[in-house]
Amino acid sequence: MHFQWYPGHMSKAKRMMQEDMKLIDVVIELVDARIPLSSRNPDINQMAGSKSRVILLNKSDLADDSQNLKWKEYFENQGYIAVLVNSKKGDGIRRVNDAVIEACKAKIERDRKRGILNRPLRAMVVGIPNVGKSTFINSISGKAAAKTGNKPGVTKGKQWIKLNKSIELLDTPGILWPKFEDQKVGLHLALIGSIREEILNSYDLSISLIKFLIQNYKGALTERYGITESDTPEENLTEIAKKRACLLKGGELDLERASSFIIDDFRNAKLGKVTLEFPAEQVREEDALNIP
Ligand code: GDP
Repeated sequence: MHFQWYPGHMSKAKRMMQEDMKLIDVVIELVDARIPLSSRNPDINQMAGSKSRVILLNKSDLADDSQNLKWKEYFENQGYIAVLVNSKKGDGIRRVNDAVIEACKAKIERDRKRGILNRPLRAMVVGIPNVGKSTFINSISGKAAAKTGNKPGVTKGKQWIKLNKSIELLDTPGILWPKFEDQKVGLHLALIGSIREEILNSYDLSISLIKFLIQNYKGALTERYGITESDTPEENLTEIAKKRACLLKGGELDLERASSFIIDDFRNAKLGKVTLEFPAEQVREEDALNIP
């Protein structure tokens, strides 16, 4: 799924989110577990102010299990309540209710001291496009049909979904604009399919991905394509194109086509569960993805 934004939409979305913030106690921020940093927008910190915070590492089914645990710990060390979820299948969803209550502990206590008992906590979901906000809202509210409330500019009344006796969730998520801080963020967003491919061509994307895989997920390409992995990304791409008989009319190798399906395979976790970003303390400069 792709998106296209214009500055007008963004400022409107931001204004709407700031209005919604006034109504809630706790922000549930979704990130993509494969790129937990690049799929965030730090503006949320300023927008959320002192609201309670929960981070959901969504699409955890597509990410590396051991990195999932490290990222959970990373966010917990920063003071967030973090939960690994797979909104599509529902894994981890039931833990979110407890996480929200845990995140609001201090607030519940303050209310109690003032004699306010059993006031439902109000929550809203935020995140960049395609991170799984609608899927999550449907999953936690037990709805099957997708709700398309994520178009900024569509004004409608606020609707609260009662999750249980103590939590109410705003039915429309807040949409954050991805932050293109550097090329790596753009590359990572393009690899997971969050930004238009024209921004980076599939050849460059696949070369970056192959380079990252041979450094960090040795054997993944061999397993999928039956090639002998080389240290040179371009050689691996050529071998994959040969194995998959990606040929142009004249019989030359069609590297563009080979690139496209390597990227598709990555997005569908056919190269295994791969996380593209590791918590900062473990990142070595040479491990980072770079645009060739
Ligand atoms: P939104 O733009 O943030 O509302 O994202 P959507 O809810 O529309 O989800 C974007 C895509 O990601 C859809 O194709 C979903 O089926 C898929 N998706 C959402 N959550 C998960 C998840 O936890 N695991 C997997 N594998 N796919 C997911």
